[in-house]
Amino acid sequence: MSATQSAPPLDSRELGGGLEYVACNLCGADDSETLYDAREPDTVRDMVRTFRASGDDLLIDPLVCCRRCGLQYVNPRPRASDIVHAYSTGDDPTYVSQVASRERTFAGAVAHIEKLLPGTGRLFDIGTAAGAFLAAARARGWEVDGCEPNRWTAAWGSTRYGVPIRQGEIFDHDLPASAFDVVTLWDVIEHTPDPSRVIDRVRGLVKPGGLLIVNYPDIGSSIARALGRKWPFLSSVHLYYFTRQTMRRLLERHGFEIVEMRPHIQRLELDYLLSRGVMVSPRVSRWSRLVARLFGLANRQTPYWIGQTFVAARRLALQP
Ligand SMILES: [Zn+2]
Repeated sequence: MSATQSAPPLDSRELGGGLEYVACNLCGADDSETLYDAREPDTVRDMVRTFRASGDDLLIDPLVCCRRCGLQYVNPRPRASDIVHAYSTGDDPTYVSQVASRERTFAGAVAHIEKLLPGTGRLFDIGTAAGAFLAAARARGWEVDGCEPNRWTAAWGSTRYGVPIRQGEIFDHDLPASAFDVVTLWDVIEHTPDPSRVIDRVRGLVKPGGLLIVNYPDIGSSIARALGRKWPFLSSVHLYYFTRQTMRRLLERHGFEIVEMRPHIQRLELDYLLSRGVMVSPRVSRWSRLVARLFGLANRQTPYWIGQTFVAARRLALQP
């Protein structure tokens, strides 16, 4: 496949009731085993609440694993077109309440990227939400651009930071080919209905020798395996659950070579983090929030790791 062709759309079929059945996004097979059955199948979905940057509703759809390649994904799932529409609408004050912590995380991330690709250049952030990463990169001299499907968050970020945030998906924008030194996907790929198509699009944007940066929640990580169904990232907002092996395969298939894969520590305010611990233990979450408030620690920016994995991959000059 040449760089100018786009990947074929994901093989899917409608099931009715707003659901669709999809084939494996990595190898195309329709040969999977169920890891977790649907939970509360009669739940009435609030699509706009579920599909937002700060979404953390419990995963209610079945999680399956491809027997051929090991990719774990939600199937059946809400129709992709409905998911994309839900992301574009609604507001997300919960997400933007944490921008100060994200700015700090991203400042460190930009410095790390500069170690892998010395100097600065042009950078594009896909699914940039409120643009905190774009702001952090611009502050270090990068020429930045980005896109975000949610109208409210994109407008909020443009106003706060004065960075360019194009509203919509990456497929909605006409961008110059092979023009970017770095393209980033921070906590985005697991939300997209068709990750192979996204990475294919990214390959067309990154200069040969340039970097693709991905951060994703790794279901093969020690903490994900230890927590099982209580792993906080196991949420209806995530459609795909990569391991290091399946992420490597996805990127290599699209002409990237892995440069680095490592645990990625992020920061959030302590009270926000503990509120999300309700999935692991409601009682511990409630009491620890109370204690944090008593000691005046609720707003403290707190490093945490529950399986987030940072990947840097270099675009090869020639297709394999
Ligand atoms: Zn597969």
